[in-house]
Amino acid sequence: MQTDTIKTSQGDLIIHFLGHSSLMFSWNGKILHSDPVSGEADYPRLPKADVLLVSHDHYDHLDLKAVEILKTPATQVVGNADVGKQIPGAIVLANGQARTVSGILIEAVPAYNIEHMMAPGKPFHPKGVGNGYIVTFGDKRVYLAGDTENIPEMKNLRGIDIAFLPMNLPYTMTPEMAADAAKMFFPKILYPYHQGETDTSRITALLQNEKGIEVRIRTMK
Ligand code: ZN
Ligand code: ZN
Repeated sequence: MQTDTIKTSQGDLIIHFLGHSSLMFSWNGKILHSDPVSGEADYPRLPKADVLLVSHDHYDHLDLKAVEILKTPATQVVGNADVGKQIPGAIVLANGQARTVSGILIEAVPAYNIEHMMAPGKPFHPKGVGNGYIVTFGDKRVYLAGDTENIPEMKNLRGIDIAFLPMNLPYTMTPEMAADAAKMFFPKILYPYHQGETDTSRITALLQNEKGIEVRIRTMK
């Protein structure tokens, strides 16, 4: 399993790159799973979740089987309203709402399509439904963008140390859109995720002159 280690004010944050949108973070004795989906990792062998984040209820983000495997009676699940309907006891956050869970501040932010539609007027991700999350680990802020395009609300993001941006068509962004998104809030480190067959070298090329943004490519498909 690929991992990166990031120093924070409360010890190391270890990012485990599982696949697609599925990530696992270990920090300060806590395990946070994000969008766990069975095909992306051998979940029965991974540590259980203290915090389990779900961005929205599409099958490549919400997998009740994986949730069941990772959940203990103490696990706090955070999701949007659709997730709350499917997981009893989940903490539901709408865009703009925030909650500190297990000592970790979780802020829900908008994630939606402007351009990519499944039919005219019907975006794959309508505004106000799904969540992106900003997760604060000590002094580091990690932005998990969810299924989104380069939406204007990204201009309001502040102090993002690490960003995960989705790059696959037709559901999320082209590398050009993801580069535009990154230039709205200048994360220190940018990881593409949810990239499907997208050529990730494109985003590295597009951002090569932005010295403040380090693009890191990991195996996430
Ligand atoms: Zn989706
Ligand atoms: Zn997706």
